[in-house]
Amino acid sequence: MEEIFGENGLIAKHHKDYEYRGGQIKMAEAVLRAFEQKKHLIVEAGTGTGKTLAYLVPAVAAALGQKKRIIISTGTKNLQEQLMGKDIPFLQKILPKKFSAAYMKGRSNYACLYRIGKAENQPILEGLDEMDSFEEIRHWVRESETGDKSELVNLPENILFWNRINAKAETCLGQKCPNFEPCFITRMRDRAEDADIVIVNHHLFFADLNIRGNEYGRVLPDYAAVIFDEAHLIEDIAADYFGFETSNFQIEELVRDADTLPIADAVASRDFTKLAAKIIGLADQFWVRFAQTRGQDGRFPLLPNSFAQKSRGGDIQTTPLGEAYFALDSTLERLETALDVHAEKLTEAESLVRRVRQARFDLEFICMQAEKNYVYWLEKRGKGMFLRASPIDVSALLQDKLFNKVETVVMTSATLSTNGKFDFIKDRLGLENGKTDTMLAPSSFDYQKQAIIYLPKAMPDPRSPEFSQFAASEIVKLINVTNGRAFVLATSNSSMNMLYELVSMRVNFPCFVQGSMSKAGLLEKFRQTPNAVLFATSSFWQGVDVRGEQLSCVIIDKLPFAVPTDPIVSARTKFIDENGGKSFFDYSVPQAVIALKQGVGRLIRSTTDKGVIALLDPRLKTKGYGRDFLNSLPKCKITSELKDVAQILEAEENVNRFSK
Ligand code: SF4
Repeated sequence: MEEIFGENGLIAKHHKDYEYRGGQIKMAEAVLRAFEQKKHLIVEAGTGTGKTLAYLVPAVAAALGQKKRIIISTGTKNLQEQLMGKDIPFLQKILPKKFSAAYMKGRSNYACLYRIGKAENQPILEGLDEMDSFEEIRHWVRESETGDKSELVNLPENILFWNRINAKAETCLGQKCPNFEPCFITRMRDRAEDADIVIVNHHLFFADLNIRGNEYGRVLPDYAAVIFDEAHLIEDIAADYFGFETSNFQIEELVRDADTLPIADAVASRDFTKLAAKIIGLADQFWVRFAQTRGQDGRFPLLPNSFAQKSRGGDIQTTPLGEAYFALDSTLERLETALDVHAEKLTEAESLVRRVRQARFDLEFICMQAEKNYVYWLEKRGKGMFLRASPIDVSALLQDKLFNKVETVVMTSATLSTNGKFDFIKDRLGLENGKTDTMLAPSSFDYQKQAIIYLPKAMPDPRSPEFSQFAASEIVKLINVTNGRAFVLATSNSSMNMLYELVSMRVNFPCFVQGSMSKAGLLEKFRQTPNAVLFATSSFWQGVDVRGEQLSCVIIDKLPFAVPTDPIVSARTKFIDENGGKSFFDYSVPQAVIALKQGVGRLIRSTTDKGVIALLDPRLKTKGYGRDFLNSLPKCKITSELKDVAQILEAEENVNRFSK
């Protein structure tokens, strides 16, 4: 590794921004050891470690030396694109041995040649704009090598009919498809079969892991090892894919496809149309019962007695919602039987039988709520109604499907440890001690010189009504010292809006708030506007990279504990308590520590960045668990004095000016 990462190594010779990083070499050696010893490895590598090359180089060495195919899975598309567009080509240029890499996205990113051919004869388009877009797509699929819709740069990002022509697993005919050979998914899979390194994202990885062995959905080639970057996201994404889901959109699409089956027999075709209309009516009655009780968007737990209740006499009685479910299910069963008659001659009918059967199974699984280790909930998003069931604890599933089957799994991220330990992540993912090594790779940033943590002297309880007023006053003082150039990261939309309202009218800096434009647009505006202040929540806590003076202050209003009423959070905490644990200390605190580290990580993005991390939540000082948070943050000076904040930014005159 020294020959590659060392001061006279290959990277130093070819990379204009090379700097020696001890943590990077140590991490690369640990990853290589994990491959050689067939062990799992968790590495926390803070910003500035150079972790991407630290796992890529040993991955290439293991892929070539030990003839293993290695999957690299990222949490975000950005990182996936950075690997494929920058890091992999760089290594292909400088490493003495040649290696190949392939890039795979989720199936719905690719066009389905079969469905496009079918759409030419079916009315799936609305308006002239859609017809023009469809014409462009038809022309493009003839030329495209990949069928990846990101190549369609001139078309709007969200083409409504894309969902009806993409290559998603549910509608795929598999090997019986007449377009199987030229199919973009077949070609993507072939490229991956020939590659030493395959780059995917966590969604595709877990979608594939969940259905390994199933001819229709499986996409990834076999592999000997996996590296997860942004591994702090694994638990939630795995829970999504190991769960069950159905939605109003899914049932509508199923019915529409059944209604447009190319059946020559006019009587049978008319029967399908009648049955389709009946299912649509019953499905509406089913979904409307949720719509009546739930006004706003969000996630809501399904109560155990939503579909059936015990009467006073002890009999089980079906609720109106239960009746709506049974009526819908029995009509879906009729559809399944009717389709089955045509399945032998018509491949589409065969595929539809499979889809109806799966939809009925998922619906029954969710509505009956018989499996105790699952949490059941409804999610409303715009016009979408999604019923979901997820395993409360994914550790056993991950052990069974991943850690016991794959010889090496490397998990890395800037935020995996709490208080310097990895017990939380190991416990959540089901990693056994003997088979898993851990490592904290030191960052190359000098936090003692580059950053300072500011805790206000006195703040009210964060749940008290006066908290926002006090927080706003602290923010005004801080950004007057830092000359704006700040992110204010709030833990909820309501706090974000309240702080924006209270602060923006009291300062002379340009203030922006999340939601006023797209995330990318807002970030660009923040970068381009001198002395700007951005108020944000959720998605700005992670994956956001603003280097240089423009971001010199990150202010966090409250400790980012997960919302306790969220169905998944509440099921997980209950599960831990019922199994003898203490959910607050075993789950809520470490989860919030990791989330806080993500937010804090927005500040220092290069060796020349400087700035202040301001944490306004008084519980850091007043509660015992506050130490777990502070001990988990980068080691730097902690202060309650604005003059110390000014000093690190060399802006002492601001303190005097604004404190007068
Ligand atoms: S194999 Fe599946 S994804 Fe490919 S063209 Fe056929 S139906 Fe579409």
